[in-house]
Amino acid sequence: MKLPAAGGLHAINADLHCHSTVSDGWLEPEALVLRALANGVQLLALTDHDEVGGIDAAAEVARAHGLAFVAGVEISVSFAGETIHIVGLGIDHRHPVLVKGLEQVRSGRDARAQLMSEALEKVGIRGALAGARRFARNPALVSRAHFARHLVASGVMPDVRTVFDHYLVRGKPGFVEHEWAALDDAVGWIRAAGGIAVVAHPARYRLSADNLSRLFDRFVAAGGEAVEVVSGAHTDDEMRRFATVARQRGLLASRASDFHGERESPVDLGRCNPLPPDLEPVWSRLLPAAASH
Ligand code: AMP
Ligand code: MN
Ligand code: MN
Ligand code: MN
Repeated sequence: MKLPAAGGLHAINADLHCHSTVSDGWLEPEALVLRALANGVQLLALTDHDEVGGIDAAAEVARAHGLAFVAGVEISVSFAGETIHIVGLGIDHRHPVLVKGLEQVRSGRDARAQLMSEALEKVGIRGALAGARRFARNPALVSRAHFARHLVASGVMPDVRTVFDHYLVRGKPGFVEHEWAALDDAVGWIRAAGGIAVVAHPARYRLSADNLSRLFDRFVAAGGEAVEVVSGAHTDDEMRRFATVARQRGLLASRASDFHGERESPVDLGRCNPLPPDLEPVWSRLLPAAASH
């Protein structure tokens, strides 16, 4: 591991949330690791949606290049009628409790994708499932992002963000309600696998202030320990808001690009802002695991 001797933990360029082709990222796990290295990342976690199938390949390339790496996952959760994402870091990605839980979460995606396709057909968009599948390298993991890419490629909308705004968010014609994992279960699977649970991009949820507070209450009660303060999906104001939440609740702070690909992601691997200096970086708890890889 090549980590800076001076500057302490905060000086480490950690990026603890990104996606490969195993979920809805554009790069293969190997290429993702190489891009992280080229961008100066010093500690990386791969966190595909509901899937750990890219971890071994990513870990191997990271090891070959001396990059500190921890296994991760981003679990889809339903809470108060909204979809929440819980990242697990430093997991044993072969732990049977986690593996079984993730299988269960993934198993609903096929039926949901079929319903999304039927819903889009009703507004005149035909063959969306077949189109989305062409963008999904992992057939078990068709995400709304793959539908969005297909709708852009077929000229329905100019870019992915516009597709989401017009078709794929609640209240729009291609949106289908879906029951993901329970919050307590997701945190429990991560902990069973020896990992640290992190609330991903907390500013992105359409929850009332009360429900957001309940989310953190339940998350902490279930054994969750960290929050993404710095996220590629956060503005500076949102970062400051969740820095306050981390302080008030005594949570560890994570730093995460949530990189999917250069065409779609506002922040590239390793290019996030630094954490506020008074917060304890979640990687204070991950470096020993990374060193043993
Ligand atoms: P799913 O897990 O199938 O519901 O898909 C969620 C994924 O869609 C997220 O992880 C993002 O990659 C993408 N996504 C969600 N909302 C948006 C948005 N407003 N703009 C662009 N991509 C989005
Ligand atoms: Mn995604
Ligand atoms: Mn997410
Ligand atoms: Mn993500």
